[in-house]
Parts: sequence; C-alpha cells; structure tokens
Amino acid sequence: MDYYSSFSEHLKQRFGFKVYKVPVSLGETCPNRNATSKGCTYCDNLGSASPIIQNTLTLRKQIEKGVEWATTRFKARGFIVYFQPFSNTFLPLRILDEALKLALSVDHVVGISIGTRPDCVPEEMLELIASYAQQTYLWMEYGLQSAHYRTLTAINRGHSLADFIDAVLRTKRKTNIHVSAHTIIGLPDENRNDIIETARIVASLPLDGIKIHLLHILKDSNLAEQFRAGSFPVLSMHEYASLVVDVIERLPRTILIQRITGEAEKKRLLSPLWCLEKQTVINAIHNEFKKRNTGQGVKYKFGLSLSEMERRMLEKISSKLG
Ligand code: SF4
Repeated sequence: MDYYSSFSEHLKQRFGFKVYKVPVSLGETCPNRNATSKGCTYCDNLGSASPIIQNTLTLRKQIEKGVEWATTRFKARGFIVYFQPFSNTFLPLRILDEALKLALSVDHVVGISIGTRPDCVPEEMLELIASYAQQTYLWMEYGLQSAHYRTLTAINRGHSLADFIDAVLRTKRKTNIHVSAHTIIGLPDENRNDIIETARIVASLPLDGIKIHLLHILKDSNLAEQFRAGSFPVLSMHEYASLVVDVIERLPRTILIQRITGEAEKKRLLSPLWCLEKQTVINAIHNEFKKRNTGQGVKYKFGLSLSEMERRMLEKISSKLG
C-alpha cells in the first residue's frame, strides 16, 4: 500500500531500524497567549500538547520515559526528541541551546524536531538550530493551519501566510534543516476549495513534510464556546477522509506525509468524538485512496504544460484560419 510518501517508512529506510518520535514539553511559552489573549481559538491551556507528555518532569526525565515507553510499545530503537507543545523557539537562545544539547546527550536519540510558529524564528535562532543540524537529523515544524487570511484572522493565529512563507524560505537556506507544515482540516467557514488551495500553496513551497490534522474542538478553548453556540458544524469521518485525500493528491511525492489525523485526549475533547478511534480514521482514509484509485501527487500541477499550451494555441490559430 503506497498511497503516499510515509514518514515512518522514510525513517526506517534512512536509519535501518524503527525510529519513534518522543514528544516533550520545554516550557509553556507562546507569543500568542498572554494576559489578554487565549491564543488560537482551537488551543487549550496545554498548548495542543500530546496526551502522553508528562510536563511536570524535567526534560531529561521526559525523554527517558518517552524512550522507555516507545521501546516497549513500538520496539523502536532510535528516537527523535520532539519539542511539541506551545512555541518552542519563543525562548532565550541559551535555554534552547541547553535543551538541544541535553536531548542529543540521551542514548539512542538520533534526531530532533522543533515545533513552533513561523513568526518566532529570528535569524540568530535559526543559526543556532542550523548548527545542530550539522550534528543530527533535524526538523523544524511550522504551524500554518490555513493559507487564508480570513481564516487565520478568525482563529486568531496572530500571523499571516507571508510569515509562514518567510520562515520556510529562510529555514531552507540553512543546510540540513528539514521543514514541515502543520495544517488543519475542518476549520470554521472553510470549504473544500479553501482546503485544496492551502494544499496547493504547501505544494508550491520547498517543504519536506506535512502534518494534516483534523480540527479538534477542545473543551477548554474559545472554539468550544462558538461550537456550543452552533456557529459551525464538524466534519463527519467520511468527509474528513475525502478531504485528506483531496489534499494529498495535490502534494508532490517529495513531501513526506508525517500525519494524516491528530491524536486527541478523550477528557479534553468536545467534538468530533469519532476521531478517538484513530485506526478507524486511518482506515477510512486508506479506503478512500483505494476507492478513487489515486495517490499522492496525482493532482499535483501548476499552470499549463507545454503540450496543453500548444494545443490551445493551435485551436485558436486554426479557428482563425477558418
Ligand atoms: S501558537 Fe500554538 S500554543 Fe500558541 S496559541 Fe496557537 S496553538 Fe496554542
């Protein structure tokens, strides 16, 4: 089954053994959350943290526990330390430097992944990160969510598409840093064409990976209030699966698919509850690929090809010649 370029397969091929990402929390910092703002409307006070993170532990303990867990559960032999919740570059340089050094000092850690916002990577920060990319396998994960200005404003992202493009291009100018985008399907007032256009913008950039998330309405978020007030509907599993395939069809095979649905913690989730059955969601997406007999990149296309242009020009010329 090769519907798309799977990140986990890529890791297996690159390292020759099973590699697992261990999510850790570095600190609860985000420029979009402050005394007057709860940040993005879909975010709760855990900053979109994975349910398995134990943020009360020291960083070393979090990594060691994560390694232990992934070794037992997934038989992984190598680990990528994933600085996941909040904005992990919204920190003093010295702190990030110490955290990266510590992560690489743990046995069997083969890489680092840093999740952050695209408006939080000044050049000095990128220089520091680039120095680590010379020593290890390193990813920067930038949240885009949507390419549409009206959506980014409505969900209070606090940055624009231009910030995202700028961050991606500046990061790709450094050597050895892999870059991925996070997007969300199901945001209020976005239709299929909006979602596809975000995919096309991702496809047009020099990205190495993408995480596609379903919109989770978390109980402790501003979005929950809007949802309870009935201001927007949630997608069904079938609609979501169909949209994920629409997106992946438009991405080149060079973009690794790192995620096709998100992980939700039952006690924090208001809706949609069907997403708690993660494997069922993944199966629904794979079935949609099968049903359409399609795959990644099948609809990856910009502009007219030379043959299309020639055909159209000839039609025009011959109609004139009459
Ligand atoms: S940028 Fe991330 S941590 Fe900050 S408010 Fe938005 S989702 Fe939450």
